[in-house]
Amino acid sequence: MTATVHGKIKIAIVGLGKIARDQHIPSLESNDAFELIAVASPHGKLNGVPCFGDIETLLHAIPEVEAVALCTTPQVRYEIARYALLHGRHVLLEKPPGVTVTEVLALVDLAKQRGVTLFASWHSRHARAVEQARVWLAGRKILSVAITWKEDVRVWHPAQPWIWKAGGLGVFDPGINALSILTEIVPGTLAMKDAELCYPSNCETPIAARLSLTDPRGAMTHVELDFLQTGPQTWNIDVETDAGRLSLSMGGSVMTVDDEPVATAQTTEYANLYAHFEELVRRRCIEVDVAPLQLVADAFLCGRRVDVEPFVS
Ligand code: NAP
Repeated sequence: MTATVHGKIKIAIVGLGKIARDQHIPSLESNDAFELIAVASPHGKLNGVPCFGDIETLLHAIPEVEAVALCTTPQVRYEIARYALLHGRHVLLEKPPGVTVTEVLALVDLAKQRGVTLFASWHSRHARAVEQARVWLAGRKILSVAITWKEDVRVWHPAQPWIWKAGGLGVFDPGINALSILTEIVPGTLAMKDAELCYPSNCETPIAARLSLTDPRGAMTHVELDFLQTGPQTWNIDVETDAGRLSLSMGGSVMTVDDEPVATAQTTEYANLYAHFEELVRRRCIEVDVAPLQLVADAFLCGRRVDVEPFVS
């Protein structure tokens, strides 16, 4: 099939789990550019929309699908994305875009060959203060960055055993959101210099991590990730510059400069994300930035392993 880009974009969701239900479905329902016409998920069903067990059956039954949003667990994303691209559909990848960097690069090659859109989405980059932070930092000298990203896995990821399996990223599942903001707002290529990864004895992925990175001018970024934070949750990025301290909190939705609030647009991440996907589909563009995934891969490459207590969900 050659994907069309006129009128409403007929889209299907693949992987009907938490993020599909919490964000993708409501965002599609309130966006006139898209029409959600099918769903594929091994078990999940959505009322009023034809549902199938897998993408192959879906595309065979509903060939008019032009685009697919892949909201599955990361471990199965590559094969599904490959199938969709091979069959000429535009593809939106939830984060992380793949289990490995090379999976993602292979998908880029395929999307180019097929002439369709591939969007490796990073939802946190669409948080309301991120673009303003990028612009504010562009004219200033960064001295240091501190990232504190601590949340309670039992609250945010109940019954998600895939997070603890290889490819599920463990604490980097939320941590990669911080890295996606960091790589958006700090100019130049960041280099991973040091990492310490804490693995529960019964898990294949880390539950906490400490990272050190350097920017091209030598400014250091220190990152603290923790999946066992009870009480108040912390998703903060603090940037010291030669002209004051920029702080992003609440995952990039609140910005202050020297503790003074900065007004931001009243938009939401996934509404922005789908507005952007529409643009990419209309123009048949590929937008894939592997920098956040590359940093995680590098943390795994250089990280020292620390064994910690088993995780009990
Ligand atoms: P989840 O609740 O476990 O949902 C994942 C879904 O993937 C499952 O419900 C499962 O469907 C489906 N699935 C598994 N294998 C499949 C296959 N072969 N074909 C089609 N569907 C398949 O996980 P989630 O929290 O939604 O996270 C999914 C992705 O979104 C992750 O990469 C995560 O990092 C990202 N994300 C999550 C959040 C969040 O707040 N949870 C926020 C932003 C991004 P069945 O139930 O039908 O078996």
